[in-house]
Amino acid sequence: FWEVSYNIAHVMHYIPVSIASAAAVRHIDELLDEPTRGADRPGASELPRISRDISFERVSFTYEGSERPVLDQFSLKLDVGKSIAIVGPSGSGKSTLLNLILRLYVPDEGRVTIDGHDIRKVTRESLRSGMAVVFQENMLFNMSIRENIRLGKEDATDKEVEQAARRAEIHKFIMSLPHKYDTVIGERGDTLSGGQRQRIAIARAIVRNPSLLLLDEATSALDQTTEAAINRTLLKVAKGRTMIFSTHRLTSVVDMDEIIVISEGQAVERGSHAELLAKNGLYRKLWDDQSHKSAASAVDDDDDDDE
Ligand code: ATP
Repeated sequence: FWEVSYNIAHVMHYIPVSIASAAAVRHIDELLDEPTRGADRPGASELPRISRDISFERVSFTYEGSERPVLDQFSLKLDVGKSIAIVGPSGSGKSTLLNLILRLYVPDEGRVTIDGHDIRKVTRESLRSGMAVVFQENMLFNMSIRENIRLGKEDATDKEVEQAARRAEIHKFIMSLPHKYDTVIGERGDTLSGGQRQRIAIARAIVRNPSLLLLDEATSALDQTTEAAINRTLLKVAKGRTMIFSTHRLTSVVDMDEIIVISEGQAVERGSHAELLAKNGLYRKLWDDQSHKSAASAVDDDDDDDE
């Protein structure tokens, strides 16, 4: 999967930037830099399958070339087995948190631990074997749907691919295509809607049977109806796993077990949607702002579920 992501990164360099979103390009840059930055330490141990918690312990982090720290002595403990949303104003560091869990970046100070193991001291392979990620833009390749899903797990059987597609609730659609799982989709997935592409990306993640599913603005680019439908699928898929879902769209997080609000390098509020509304703090403010906006856009709705 990571090897593939890395290959994708190479391929991406030869594709005009115009077809990739800024987010995808940023991610690709991260992957390109990754082999040196995220290398294993000598004597790195194997991380057992995640069972208790993911913790940020006084983590400080500043991107190279930037003056301002994104995280400053940031501490947060996330219990496994829950659906957890990370929300906050644009630029507050939501994606950065996921990047740090994935060890695409390492903290300048402090540490990120899984079940008490500093993730810098374990092998990258064991760290990521239990994880899968879905981004806002996921590369689909000019090959069959089956092969596109199998990118998540090289040796997945046809049955596993199909099971993953069922969980992502895209199986029926695939079966309605003339060539079913053998249907070749274009590089840009032109033949598919934004929601269908995203469901294929979810199937690609689920085929890994990850204990930790990370979603970075995975439904933010979709129209509201598609977004809601995919979020319902994700909540089902997340059962029995840990899901960390970063988004700036609060309508996506209402049903999550726990919502963490981050702002200016700190986790400032946490709780359920109802608890956070009752707090009358930043979450409430963001919620009210977005409710006004969606009321306005319902009148002048220019949302588009394709690119
Ligand atoms: P958004 O909701 O806009 O996606 P976010 O909360 O996910 O934002 P991050 O993407 O984590 O925020 O970014 C936090 C800060 O770090 C921002 O100021 C951003 O401009 C900066 N930043 C992010 N990635 C990089 C990078 N690769 N190099 C330099 N600065 C970066």
